[in-house]
Amino acid sequence: MSRYWSDLTHKLTPYVPGEQPKITNLVKLNTNENPFPPSPQAVSAMRAVVGDDLRLYPDPTCSELRQSLAQLHGLAIDQVFVGNGSDEVLAHAFQALLKQDERILFPDVTYGFYPVYGDLFGIHYEQVPLAQDLTINVDDYLGPNGGVILANPNAPTGCLLSLGQIRTLLQGNPDRVVIIDEAYIDFGGQSAAALVPEFDNLLVVQTLSKSRSLAGLRVGMAFGQAHLIQGLERIKNSFNPYPLSREALAGATAAVADVAYFDKTRQTIMAMRQWLSEQLAALDFTMTDSKANFVFVEHARMGAADIAGGLRERGIIVRHLTANPRTQNYLRISVGTQAECDVLVSALGEILV
Ligand SMILES: *Cc1c(COP(=O)(O)O)cnc(C)c1O
Repeated sequence: MSRYWSDLTHKLTPYVPGEQPKITNLVKLNTNENPFPPSPQAVSAMRAVVGDDLRLYPDPTCSELRQSLAQLHGLAIDQVFVGNGSDEVLAHAFQALLKQDERILFPDVTYGFYPVYGDLFGIHYEQVPLAQDLTINVDDYLGPNGGVILANPNAPTGCLLSLGQIRTLLQGNPDRVVIIDEAYIDFGGQSAAALVPEFDNLLVVQTLSKSRSLAGLRVGMAFGQAHLIQGLERIKNSFNPYPLSREALAGATAAVADVAYFDKTRQTIMAMRQWLSEQLAALDFTMTDSKANFVFVEHARMGAADIAGGLRERGIIVRHLTANPRTQNYLRISVGTQAECDVLVSALGEILV
């Protein structure tokens, strides 16, 4: 607290990121990072740009990266936006597209940044309760609103909407923007980027942080028709015209090009999610049908806080999100390597005696 703070600063409730502990040797399953390293091609592309050229500003239009993303999704370059992590892309989207007179809608259990941005930017919002089984019912998002934002798969539940359900959402909101945050789409969903040519009210947001193992690089992107992308560009160029460094541009472009590595690592994670889910079910956990790189689990007898505490004593950290009473007995556990999942399962076997 300081008397020099603005009124806005006083009233904020900042997002609290998952812990990034300084101690090594921890099994870190709390922030949905990818357990595999980034593509070796991305790493060498980044190394190659570290040199004298760093005295020069990076390309403010990020055209090479945008072109390769456009190609990947069968879109035009003017239908692609990139930013410093999808958190920044989402911030621009809130300001450019969701700051309307009517209240925007998002689920009561979803990515914790949405209410934070709503408050920061003075955007009114309504948190729509998830269905009893913790899935999103799209019919709840078809009434009057100032826009809709959904994570698909949703976080922290991992539940996936089909493209048919997204289509219903887009058709039912012809005068409002619908933002689909696809941070986890590569772990078992179908991207709504395919619907961009058909719907002028769709913005799809993705990130290289999860499925491309580059959380540390900070690269996010958005896909939408050119008029929406231009709105994001207007905000970006009123805030920071150089959000991506030369390293970020080089690394991201090479990571996107390395399709073989991307497919191999995400397939491994999906297989590991299946194995881990079976192990956890055998330990009397129930869980949502996650299509993300994490599972969302509740134990039949032991409380989430006690399980998280027991795991921590054994050097394993998972995420216990307590903001919403409906899901406060759940743990969100990132899918790690086979070795990490083995350690997790045997620790749970000790704790749940
Ligand atoms: C991780 C995550 C993000 C943020 O990703 P960055 O690109 O690292 O900023 C956005 N949305 C959801 C739902 C996420 O889980």
